[in-house]
Amino acid sequence: MSCRAMLKCVARSLLMNYATGRRMMSQGNLAGKIAIVTASTDGIGLAAARALGQRGAHVVVSSRRKENVDKAVSLLQAENIQVTGTTCNVGKREDRERLVNMTVEHCGGVDILVSNAAVNPFFGNIMESTEEVWDKILDVNVKSAFLLTKLVVPQMEKKGGGSIVFISSVAGYQPMQGLGPYSVSKTALLGLTRALAPELGHSNIRVNCVAPGIIKTRFSSALWENEGIMEEFNRQMAIKRIGQPDEVGRVIAFLCSDDASYLTGETITVTGGMGTRL
Ligand code: NAP
Repeated sequence: MSCRAMLKCVARSLLMNYATGRRMMSQGNLAGKIAIVTASTDGIGLAAARALGQRGAHVVVSSRRKENVDKAVSLLQAENIQVTGTTCNVGKREDRERLVNMTVEHCGGVDILVSNAAVNPFFGNIMESTEEVWDKILDVNVKSAFLLTKLVVPQMEKKGGGSIVFISSVAGYQPMQGLGPYSVSKTALLGLTRALAPELGHSNIRVNCVAPGIIKTRFSSALWENEGIMEEFNRQMAIKRIGQPDEVGRVIAFLCSDDASYLTGETITVTGGMGTRL
């Protein structure tokens, strides 16, 4: 074979592999699945919605502000992702119910829940935190995760199973200075994952958790904009850089897929090696 013919042959085979790869990606291992991702108009939630959508799921995005929802829907639509949007403040019972009801009516059920919303209205010594701070943090970060689970489980059971992912934090393992109540709420999600997994296993519903480290989003800007704090974190990281939202989104999508079919009650830390456990 001449050199030119050989080059042609290699190029054709590369093109065919590329086309097959594209086709597999568009079919995706989540094709036909319906996924609710809370707090998904920015940061890790948006990245999770994108990763699920790229694998073929129909994603339902939501957050408190309509303009953020509309923007996220347009963004994902432009990326050829099947997406529906609605407002939902996870701390409000009527919003949670509306989100799930709308998903069932509009999309035909629920297969996946990514409970991602969290707040942190307090920074300081834990002994100075008030009852109002604790109420807000526990309501949004912990109770809403459980109450949304309670709403989606009957829908998942109707479809013969499902997958739930909670978003905790590395602070759930080692409380961060100044973030005591928030850290404790994130520890509670590790417990919630463990408490739910055996009970929901009977319904073929897997429950897992992701604990991100320092990820570049608005939520964590007080950390990554501070050079001193980042120097300390860098010392603790094996991968010496801040994480990107899509690096967490892809792990969430993996947990929701059949690739993780024998994985439940587990938390994966996505921290660049910071605060990992033996
Ligand atoms: P982010 O980029 O600041 O995005 C926050 C999202 O939450 C926005 O879409 C916001 O939209 C929405 N939101 C806020 N309060 C809400 C509520 N009550 N109900 C519904 N939506 C709400 O935040 P992020 O860093 O991606 O954080 C996402 C999750 O990752 C949180 O659970 C956080 O604890 C966890 N996490 C983050 C890091 C990090 O370094 N970034 C590390 C560990 C864990 P609206 O304003 O429109 O509501």
